Amino acid sequence: MKKPFIVGNWKMNLSLKDAVKLAGEIKSFAGNMVNTHIGICPPAVFLSDIFKVITGSNVILGAQNIHFEDNGAFTGEISGLMIKDVGCTHTILGHSERRHVFGETDEFINKKLKKCFVDDISPIFCVGETLDERENGKTNDVIEGQLQNGLKDTNTADAKKLTIAYEPVWAIGTGKTASPEQANEVHAFIRDFLSKKYDANIASDIIIQYGGSVKPDNIRDLLMQNDIDGALVGGASLKSDSFLEMIEIANSI
Ligand code: PEP
Repeated sequence: MKKPFIVGNWKMNLSLKDAVKLAGEIKSFAGNMVNTHIGICPPAVFLSDIFKVITGSNVILGAQNIHFEDNGAFTGEISGLMIKDVGCTHTILGHSERRHVFGETDEFINKKLKKCFVDDISPIFCVGETLDERENGKTNDVIEGQLQNGLKDTNTADAKKLTIAYEPVWAIGTGKTASPEQANEVHAFIRDFLSKKYDANIASDIIIQYGGSVKPDNIRDLLMQNDIDGALVGGASLKSDSFLEMIEIANSI
């Protein structure tokens, strides 16, 4: 089994004071968790402060999104170079909230993904179907389309920096989790796609995280599945108790 990669997506939550406190607690705990890669994606305005807290530790800092241009008249946006400047090595891209609330398309996400590779940033590229799509038997088609379009014009060197997060939209923030078997089926489908697009060795090295109401009481069963290599965690990453417990479980597998 690969070292699991557990990432907290803090979304638009926490005050600066609470974010700094949480990051400090994660940093202190992470030192002993040598079998797990740990990442946090705070709100963009907190990145500089959080970087200062976690500097020198094994905690990875990620943004929640970038724009594909370096700078310019894009009010409200931040660039890859900017997040690198404040200590990020990673960014989430294509989160379902970006797709469904802010209307981001596969093509737009593809531009940002390619810019990550140019800027030497590791993207955590999210894909996932809605409940309606799942109930209509379209899960694989949807995932394949998101992968095909999102990863268009990327190569094997790019793929080495890539993490995929499978996040069924119906399981995000709803308390509903895909069963470990249900999730693993889609992860295996994603791995097969990556194997055909790049090659089998690269595909087997790519971390595929599961996301969608991951909690301390379901993370073990999810991570025990063959093709689930980590978790992208929203709600349960906002409290140190639950996030640290999940890291400890991942570290013990
Ligand atoms: C997410 O935001 O990526 C997520 C999976 O959220 P939650 O864990 O709250 O479902």
